[in-house]
Amino acid sequence: MRKKLVVGNWKLHGSLVENEKLLDEIATQLKDLRNIDCGVCLPYPYLFQAQRKLANTSILWGAQNVSQFLAGAYTSSVSAKMIADFGCSFAIVGHSERRSYSHESNQKAVIRIKRAVDAGITPIYCVGETLAEYGLGQTKKIIEAQILAIFGLDAITLSRAKAVGLVVAYEPVWAIGTGHAAQPAQAQMVHHFIRALIAQHDADFAEKVRIIYGGSLTPVNACSLLIMPDIDGGLVGHSALNALTFKAICEMAAHTHELCEGISCD
Ligand code: PEP
Repeated sequence: MRKKLVVGNWKLHGSLVENEKLLDEIATQLKDLRNIDCGVCLPYPYLFQAQRKLANTSILWGAQNVSQFLAGAYTSSVSAKMIADFGCSFAIVGHSERRSYSHESNQKAVIRIKRAVDAGITPIYCVGETLAEYGLGQTKKIIEAQILAIFGLDAITLSRAKAVGLVVAYEPVWAIGTGHAAQPAQAQMVHHFIRALIAQHDADFAEKVRIIYGGSLTPVNACSLLIMPDIDGGLVGHSALNALTFKAICEMAAHTHELCEGISCD
C-alpha cells in the first residue's frame, strides 16, 4: 500500500511576512493528519524560513527546482547540496513552467534527478502533455518519452532514486492553473500507463513509486481524482496558498475511502 503524498507548489508567491502566517496556519491545520506525507515547495530564499517553522512538525518542505550542476561558475544556480543544507526533502524537477519558460528538456530534467538523489533529496519529476499534444492524441507518446528518459540514468543513480522514493507527478499542462482538472478516468489511465512503463524496467519500483496528480486540484474535485487506484496524491498549486483548502485536499488524500465513498469517478 503506497502512502499518499500531497505537496504544495507555491510557485512565485510569498514574502517573509506572508509565509510566517501561512506556514503557521498549515502547521496548525495539518497537525492531526496521519497516514499521509504532506509538504510544501517554496521559492529558494524562503527555504531557511520553512526549515525554521516546520522543523518540529510532520510537514515536509522542498525546493521548486535544483541545478543540473554540482558547483562552479553557474550564476544564479542553486545546487542539490545547498537545498539539502536547508533540510529539504523534495525538489520539483521538470515542471512544465520550467519546461516552457526556461526550455528545460527531459535530458536536463533527468540530470537534475541525478543531482537530487545523489544529495539524498526526493525528486518530484513532473511529466505531462500540452493542450496541442492532447488534442493530437499524443499524450502517451509524450509521457513515454518523459518517463523513459529516467531509465537513461546509470544503475547507481536509479537505485538511489528508488531508495529516496522518486515521485512522478502527472501534470497535464492544459490543467495547470486553468481551473480545468483532468477527468478522473483520463488521469487514472495515464497514471496506470506510467506505472506500466516503469514496470517494464523494474516491477518492484513500479509498485512502490508514488504517482501524484497535479493540475487545478481543489477540495471540490480532489476526491474523485484521489480515489483512483493509481493516483497516489497531488501536486497542488493555487489551492496550496490557503491553509484551509490545502488541508481539505490533504485530508481527502489521507482518508480517501472514508471521505470519498460514493463520489462519482467519471
Ligand atoms: C502546479 O503548478 O504544479 C499546479 C498543479 O498548479 P495548479 O494547482 O494551480 O493548477
